[in-house]
Amino acid sequence: MISPSSDPAPLPRSYAIGTPAPETHILERARDTDVAVIGAGICGLSTALHLRELGREVTVLEAGEIGAGGSGRAFGLVVPYAKRDHEEIKHEFGEEAGSRIVGAVASGPDLVFDLIARHAIDCEASRKGWILGAHTNAALASLAKLSAYWQERGAPVECLDAKATERLLGSRFYLGALLDRRAGGVNPHAYTRGLAAAALRSGARIFTNSRARRLARDGKCWRIDATSGSLRANEVVIATDAYTDDLWPGLARSLVPLRAYQLVSEPLSENLRAAILPERQPLTDTRRLYAGVRVRADGRLHMSVDGPAFSIGARPNVAKAERRIRKLFPQIGNLGWSEEWSGWVAMTTNHLPHLHLLAPGLLAAIGFNGRGIALASLVGRDVARRIAGFPQGELFLPVTKLAPIRAHAALRPFVSALLDWYRLRDAMELRRLPAAR
Ligand SMILES: Cc1cc2nc3c(=O)[nH]c(=O)nc-3n(C[C@H](O)[C@H](O)[C@H](O)COP(=O)(O)OP(=O)(O)OC[C@H]3O[C@@H](n4cnc5c(N)ncnc54)[C@H](O)[C@@H]3O)c2cc1C
Repeated sequence: MISPSSDPAPLPRSYAIGTPAPETHILERARDTDVAVIGAGICGLSTALHLRELGREVTVLEAGEIGAGGSGRAFGLVVPYAKRDHEEIKHEFGEEAGSRIVGAVASGPDLVFDLIARHAIDCEASRKGWILGAHTNAALASLAKLSAYWQERGAPVECLDAKATERLLGSRFYLGALLDRRAGGVNPHAYTRGLAAAALRSGARIFTNSRARRLARDGKCWRIDATSGSLRANEVVIATDAYTDDLWPGLARSLVPLRAYQLVSEPLSENLRAAILPERQPLTDTRRLYAGVRVRADGRLHMSVDGPAFSIGARPNVAKAERRIRKLFPQIGNLGWSEEWSGWVAMTTNHLPHLHLLAPGLLAAIGFNGRGIALASLVGRDVARRIAGFPQGELFLPVTKLAPIRAHAALRPFVSALLDWYRLRDAMELRRLPAAR
């Protein structure tokens, strides 16, 4: 079975700017802690930082370096949405619990930009909103509905017509767009390193290159055997998202990890920088697959790109990305690419993150469905509050039963066929878009 935890794909070089990685060491002896967190991505580090703020002692174990998983590889979009639509969330969880989830998720960017400000994290943070382009009339109608929903709740969200969208994008490609000014962008690896530095400053301990290999009950505590040391903890949080390995039976089988690809260009000319996304909001669109485009602070174009969803060592479909960017910005000419990378996103069956109580004192918070920058920051805080004994009414993510997916090993051909179907549907719909012909 293909395992993200054994994928040697390197972290992006272009994210190695901003807040540096704090100095950390390998766990080399037996130690005791109050709460152990497994995984130093956004979720694990937000859990650790918020636990420290609530006065708990905490130790983080990370298999690689800080941000080695999705957090160090993401596109960088900070959005107030889960993968799942707000109406579906309310339908699944009921009006009260559903509204609490939708409201909490909507506050995700506030938490991220507040953490960045409070801990002086240098991570290319920019909060100018997010543009979601509509590629069909039906999609535009649903964006109008979404914008009305949030406007009724006083949120700075608007639905733009084709002309206003063209002005914001420097492209006539879309039929209209949603502009959500609560959202923004970050360098996600620098944000993650900043969370780690803040957690350390607040008194947390972080051990890197220290994979948790065995987790078992030891009297009233948990014992974690790591690569070359061990940890005894009263409580444990597993925060390993798509990089979940075999540490706990069935946990990896509750997720479908998909490989996602990113591409960064050489710096654009001054003219192109002024013409493309001139206000610098990140852009995605209403197609089913791979839509992210943004212009980074150094004038490079950064795109999310299609590619093989399961193969370790595979490369992004650069030719498809080039065709797409030329249709979007016909003036762009020939682009040189300076960097490509990949990472794994964890899909869940209901497209929402899962919080499982695996055993007394053992929680797992996983499954961010490619939306973890804001959401994993929030879930980390929620997990810390749950451990500190906050009442249920002040928590948003319900605890659900671990549900390993049946016939998980046979899923790959099924998901590959589904992705091909999405590609076909996207292509057919785009053919009907006047500017895309
Ligand atoms: C290419 C790409 C683009 C994305 N773009 C966006 C975006 O624009 N916006 C957005 O919101 N989200 C995006 N995401 C999703 C987002 O990156 C993730 O949802 C988020 O980073 C998950 O954070 P996490 O802390 O839960 O997990 P991760 O960051 O994956 O961290 C898990 C960590 O656990 C460690 N680990 C695993 N097993 C063990 C073990 N046994 N012992 C110790 N450590 C272990 C791993 O090494 C890893 O560092 C993207 C993801 C990818 C891959």
